[in-house]
Amino acid sequence: MRIVFATKNRGKVKEAAEKLKEFGIEVVPLSELGDFPAPEETGETFCENAYEKAVYYSNLIGEPVIAEDSGLVVDVLGGRPGVYSSRFAGEGASDEENNRKLIEELKRLGLDSSPARYISFVFLSFPEGMGLWSEGKVEGKVITVPRGKGGFGYDPLFVPEGFDRTMAELPLEEKNRISHRGKALSKLVDLIKEVKKW
Ligand code: IMP
Repeated sequence: MRIVFATKNRGKVKEAAEKLKEFGIEVVPLSELGDFPAPEETGETFCENAYEKAVYYSNLIGEPVIAEDSGLVVDVLGGRPGVYSSRFAGEGASDEENNRKLIEELKRLGLDSSPARYISFVFLSFPEGMGLWSEGKVEGKVITVPRGKGGFGYDPLFVPEGFDRTMAELPLEEKNRISHRGKALSKLVDLIKEVKKW
């Protein structure tokens, strides 16, 4: 089975490909199929954004498409950056710029660390009209001194619960085992298996 992953984020494709290959599912990034106009991301929840993107692209290319919307939720910041995680420091901001903004906001509140969680919402849309979805989260804390070179995004600033290392200091297999996206994708695989039995 081949599933197209509608994301420009190479980190996400790598994680999903690694997670799904043992189930015989090949993950192909959308960019390999061509250059398609992107839908506007207008949703106010991870769920809305993943749903809209997956349905849009599966209708466009006529293949099963996975879209994922995820982000970092920091309680003390009122849930920000949340659905705006990739553009926390402004449209087109780099991971470094977003991380710098997070550090500044925490420091402004006099904090060196603060409880936070990553949330991932995954939607698999089939061109025939069926959809499957799942959600995953990982609790932890954000810190103000980045550590590690793995992962992407806020990983150098996120320490998962029960760990001393940041997400960026964990090997990919370990991140995939405990991460929000890893959990959401595992649940999605269970759903795919259920559907195959029909
Ligand atoms: P999306 O591509 O609109 O879903 O944006 C997701 C954003 O959330 C990323 O650009 C990161 O800033 C953040 N994010 C989501 N998942 C992770 C992760 O596993 N590690 C680090 N940052 C993440």
